[in-house]
Amino acid sequence: MSDVYLYSFKGKFRLFDIESFLLKTELPQLVEQVAEGTRVGLKVIVPNPGNITYIRPLIVKKILDFIKGLGALVELVDTLDIMDEGLEVMKRVNHVGYSFQTFDAPFLLADHITGTDYKEIIINGDYLPYVHLGTEFEEMGLLVFLTHFTGDPFYGYFGSITHMALRCIAKEFKNKVLADLVFEVDGSRCDKCGLCVEVCPVNAISINEDSGVKIDTSKCIHCGYCSLLCPNKALVLKNSSRRRLIGKFIDIAKTLKNIYGERLFYINVLLDVIPYPDYLPFVSRNISENIGIVASRDPVAVDKASLDIISQRIGGFEKFKSIHNVDPMEIILAAEKSKLGTTNYNLIEV
Ligand code: SF4
Ligand code: SF4
Repeated sequence: MSDVYLYSFKGKFRLFDIESFLLKTELPQLVEQVAEGTRVGLKVIVPNPGNITYIRPLIVKKILDFIKGLGALVELVDTLDIMDEGLEVMKRVNHVGYSFQTFDAPFLLADHITGTDYKEIIINGDYLPYVHLGTEFEEMGLLVFLTHFTGDPFYGYFGSITHMALRCIAKEFKNKVLADLVFEVDGSRCDKCGLCVEVCPVNAISINEDSGVKIDTSKCIHCGYCSLLCPNKALVLKNSSRRRLIGKFIDIAKTLKNIYGERLFYINVLLDVIPYPDYLPFVSRNISENIGIVASRDPVAVDKASLDIISQRIGGFEKFKSIHNVDPMEIILAAEKSKLGTTNYNLIEV
């Protein structure tokens, strides 16, 4: 059984004393175990400026200062997403308030501004023969994942496991992993509105009056926008694709676990829980009221606890599942089966 710590915003008012909360978790012990001067990565996701619900800079700063206060050398770190340009992302970091001026700590792109700086790790996994991790991760003694827990149309939810799997690999490798994001068109739902054609960044979609929507797979970069924005849910991820993607995610998460061993910590932020991950440029209504912050050394336990807590607040697990009609337990159970952690947790409310 794994301990999961909850800092709940229950009641009308509470001081935002995240330091006292983190002191009760295993994070201080983990930081003390790494040698003085060792680099600690606070793994964040650079928010998309088209989304306004990302983790507030003040929360990031408080967590960063807490780790710094324990004597560690902390850096914020992320990798480029498939459509990102390095220089544009560095500007975005300032734009959204994730800058050096805010945090008094550097922000690094682990795969460099080119997205091609990686270390190849041969894993011979079930789905991937190798993994390309951003080189900066090689140098870090401890990784703390700070994740905005949200829904996700392709995997059911976005949390610590998906953060680990999708956002530590180099940009060029993301394209290989996401090549399994294959959509099928349900002609009976499509009314040929043309929105998918409009939002596709690489003009990979065409509509023919007789045969309907067609995706040119040689052009598609697997961003998923067409599926996300289709008003009729006519572009759906194939179940076989989802299974393969989850298999790849688990291979990547296991790679990190093998490299870092116990030197990993996970914090899920359950505030502004929206249906989509915040690195996508969409705004949306919140799924639930603001709940608080959940932390653990176990990525499976922290995600399962987050899912349970949110589900309880919104009327049950089936309600959460129905947001995208995708079972969020699929990835959690796959991670548990691969011994990344356990769904059996002990919730400690601080
Ligand atoms: S957005 Fe959806 S409904 Fe509109 S044309 Fe594309 S697939 Fe059809
Ligand atoms: S996933 Fe859809 S929107 Fe994205 S590149 Fe492929 S066809 Fe275009």
